Amino acid sequence: MIDGWIATLRRRFSQDALFWLCAVTVILLIPILLAVAWRATSIEQAQQDAAQAAMIRSAERRASIQAFALMIKDAESSHRGYLLSGDHAFLRRYEAVTPLVEQRIDQLVLAFSDQPEQQQRLARVRELARERFALMEEVRAVRDERGLTAAGAEVATARGERAMERLRADTDAISAAEARNLGERLRLAQSQTRQARLVSSTSYGLVLAAIALAAVMAFRYTALRTALITRARAEAERRQAIFDSAMDAIITFNPSGGVETMNRAAQEMFGYAPEELTGRDISVLVPEAAGDDALFLERLRHDGDVRAGATCELEARRKDGTTFPVDINFGEMAQPDGVHAVAVMRDCTERRRAELAKSEFVSTVSHELRTPLTSIAGSLGLLAGGAAGALPERAARLIGIAENNSRRLVRLINDILDLEKIDSGKLGLVSKPLDFGDLTQAAVENLGGLSAETGVALAYDPPAEPVMVDGDADRLTQVLTNLLSNAVKFSRRGGVARVRVWPEGRRVRLSVKDDGPGIPPEFQDQIFGRFAQADSSDTRQKGGTGLGLAISKEIVERHGGRIWFESPPGEGATFHVELPARPDVASAPPGDDGVRLLLCEDDPDIAQVLSEALAGHGFRTEIVTTLAAATETLATPGAFDALLLDLRLPDGSGLDLLRRLRADPATRGLPAIIISADAADRAAMASLDLVDWIEKPVDLDRLAAALDQAIDGAAEGPLVLHVDDDPDLRQLVAEAFSGRCRMKSVESLAAARQALSEQTPSLAILDVGLPDGSGLDLLPELHDPSGRPIPVVVFSAQAFDQAALAQAVDAVLVKSRSSLDQLIATVRRLTAVARHSPSPAAGAEA
Ligand code: ADP
Repeated sequence: MIDGWIATLRRRFSQDALFWLCAVTVILLIPILLAVAWRATSIEQAQQDAAQAAMIRSAERRASIQAFALMIKDAESSHRGYLLSGDHAFLRRYEAVTPLVEQRIDQLVLAFSDQPEQQQRLARVRELARERFALMEEVRAVRDERGLTAAGAEVATARGERAMERLRADTDAISAAEARNLGERLRLAQSQTRQARLVSSTSYGLVLAAIALAAVMAFRYTALRTALITRARAEAERRQAIFDSAMDAIITFNPSGGVETMNRAAQEMFGYAPEELTGRDISVLVPEAAGDDALFLERLRHDGDVRAGATCELEARRKDGTTFPVDINFGEMAQPDGVHAVAVMRDCTERRRAELAKSEFVSTVSHELRTPLTSIAGSLGLLAGGAAGALPERAARLIGIAENNSRRLVRLINDILDLEKIDSGKLGLVSKPLDFGDLTQAAVENLGGLSAETGVALAYDPPAEPVMVDGDADRLTQVLTNLLSNAVKFSRRGGVARVRVWPEGRRVRLSVKDDGPGIPPEFQDQIFGRFAQADSSDTRQKGGTGLGLAISKEIVERHGGRIWFESPPGEGATFHVELPARPDVASAPPGDDGVRLLLCEDDPDIAQVLSEALAGHGFRTEIVTTLAAATETLATPGAFDALLLDLRLPDGSGLDLLRRLRADPATRGLPAIIISADAADRAAMASLDLVDWIEKPVDLDRLAAALDQAIDGAAEGPLVLHVDDDPDLRQLVAEAFSGRCRMKSVESLAAARQALSEQTPSLAILDVGLPDGSGLDLLPELHDPSGRPIPVVVFSAQAFDQAALAQAVDAVLVKSRSSLDQLIATVRRLTAVARHSPSPAAGAEA
């Protein structure tokens, strides 16, 4: 019960509060107990005094009653002497006593005034004394008158004797009663004294106990205090040792920024002795902290993101005035007089130097490796694609191996450069509205080759509606390509990787599910780490770098999304990506850039496949399935750049439509291409002014080249100025564009200026690092004679802050990251845009 009470108390109060409660109780208790004890002692003393006084008074009373009885006896003896002798001398005593009797009895009455029963006895004594003296007076008179014998006879009656007897009995009774009374009074006094003594001794005992308790508490308090002081001293020494042996400078500041303490590293770093710096303002050490704001952390905050707990980089100043960069981390300490701060500083000169060297190295690598790799991969691609004619089977196989490996190398370099950008915070995103469904579709198609090679099917389930996100198309394609290629690489041969995109509330979701071996549980924690591969022999077997997912995660998170995976044992792996949806998903307007084609084809599958394939080449296609719909759609003048026409349509022959179009002045010049299963009809080609007659299955390259030429109106296509100092790349690009455009390839700024003075190109492709300056220096000169800017594509090995560059040019492509096909599609789109609109549209491709 007491334990419970103490436990409750303990819960309510802290140890300290309990201690002080006990101390106050003890301090209050001691005087109270002392007062009680003193009171009890004085009562005891008074009882004893009263008992003593009662004893004295009782003795006096008894003595006076005895004296009275003796006096009577004296008078009797004197009287008897006279009776016997007849000598009057004997009567002297009798006569002296007689007048005193009444007086003595009065005194006795006074002495016993507080005892009524004694008063009665005394009244009787008075009667008997009077009677006795009266008898003695009578006998004396008989002796005087009739002599001894007569007197003897009077005495013999014994009346006197009897009176005397009674009187004696009464005085004895008075005496005895007095003795009894005294006894009772003494007993009472004794018991009261005992009680008072008990109270006083208990109180003194309690006082002693309280003093003992106070002493114990004082002892414990002192012991505890000593232990705490010892511990605090040890702790302070330990901290001081850490403080002094830390390699970083540690300085503490008061709330207004005055230096309080500094460790040895700080003394060495700044060149001050502690006493030179104590009390001086932080701005002596960190010039940026100058100002008159009372709280120095506030002063620093004006200069950037300085806050407690975060590391920031600031300029510091030594005693000799030289400055150096420091990484500084502030911690706050709440003290009674305000918030003090501790700053941990590290000289980061070396780190900065190393970072600079690293980024210089990376930039050199990027420039030196990307350009030749682009040439190698591009040339091998063109060779493999038959650009130099059909290759013997063995050569084709070897070229295939070389192309594969050059792409692997390109991938690795790109991944390393991406990581460098992520680490240096330079991963710029060029965000624009995108249909994530379309983007996924394009990525799935791009992986067709890998999918065919590995025998793994990619099944894409596109969303019913456009799912719009704001994002960087190139970077999101990088994520998609990584996830899809992983799914294809890790699926078993003949398996299916399923890709799905769907809107989910305000988010857009992607899932890529494969039926491969899944992610081993022990590897799941590391999968998004750098160079992470469950099986490092994968690098050789499957051609990965172990960087793809780390980069993808960064890209997705930079888009405000998240990436994760599920891998239940034996069920393959499913990777999920979630991105914020564009707020106006439904109303996203279709882009109006690129070459606009009308495709009139009644087979919906063929129409869809063709439209998607053409989208990859930078053409935007609208599909109609009947002649009537085509006629209606073409009624808007200038809505389309070219017409692709099937011959057999549900409501007639395509040739009829063409004849009508050629008859109408508004559509007479519309380039038209027949796409048909029927063989070419040369006569129709000539009479209907056809650009080409392409038989199904369609050769896309031929179709694209035909469209390029037809749309630009000139037999050789538009004139493109290509400025690049790498001769191989110039040649490769010219090769890739051959048949599509006229290429003017030059190696320097000077040559480019010369070319511009001779002829105005429709578009310029610029490398940035040129022997005589930056390709971007040409920008102010790139306009036609009427002052209209010429579209510019930057095609460089250097990775720029693309967001900033996007403002100045129309597209930015990074060598080795963008394929030649992408370059061609971009050029096609931009020349079409320039044709459609008097002022060029701004946009960027990374
Ligand atoms: P890599 O370029 O090597 O594919 P990633 O970062 O894309 O690099 O993937 C890292 C590792 O994660 C892979 O090497 C593989 O071990 C594992 N991994 C990724 N995707 C899958 C998947 N779909 N199935 C099984 N393992 C996978």
